[in-house]
Amino acid sequence: MQQSTPLLAWKAFVNENICVGCGKCTGVCWTGAIGIVNKKAVVDFSRCICCTACVRACPKGAIQIAPYPYPILHRDQVLERIKTQLNVVRYKVEELERSIEEI
Ligand code: SF4
Ligand code: SF4
Repeated sequence: MQQSTPLLAWKAFVNENICVGCGKCTGVCWTGAIGIVNKKAVVDFSRCICCTACVRACPKGAIQIAPYPYPILHRDQVLERIKTQLNVVRYKVEELERSIEEI
């Protein structure tokens, strides 16, 4: 059977042992990919575009760029994810419509 090669993308990784939770990285990440959770920076890989701004901003050298292996998804799994996202968007639109009606 033919083996599928994982898709690799470069992403920012935080070393939790070095991070002091100062939040300087969150201030420069223009895609909103970094947040502070329990006083440590956490990267949302789906939003990180590897611009390296956070790496340069971190005073502790806690962030490194490294390859991130994306899982290979089958067509049905992709469709299921899209449906879930659409349901979330639909719910938010309905919520907005309800709050507009109340005005
Ligand atoms: S800038 Fe560096 S030390 Fe500060 S929160 Fe971000 S990763 Fe942690
Ligand atoms: S590399 Fe760029 S996009 Fe990715 S987390 Fe850092 S600042 Fe955000």
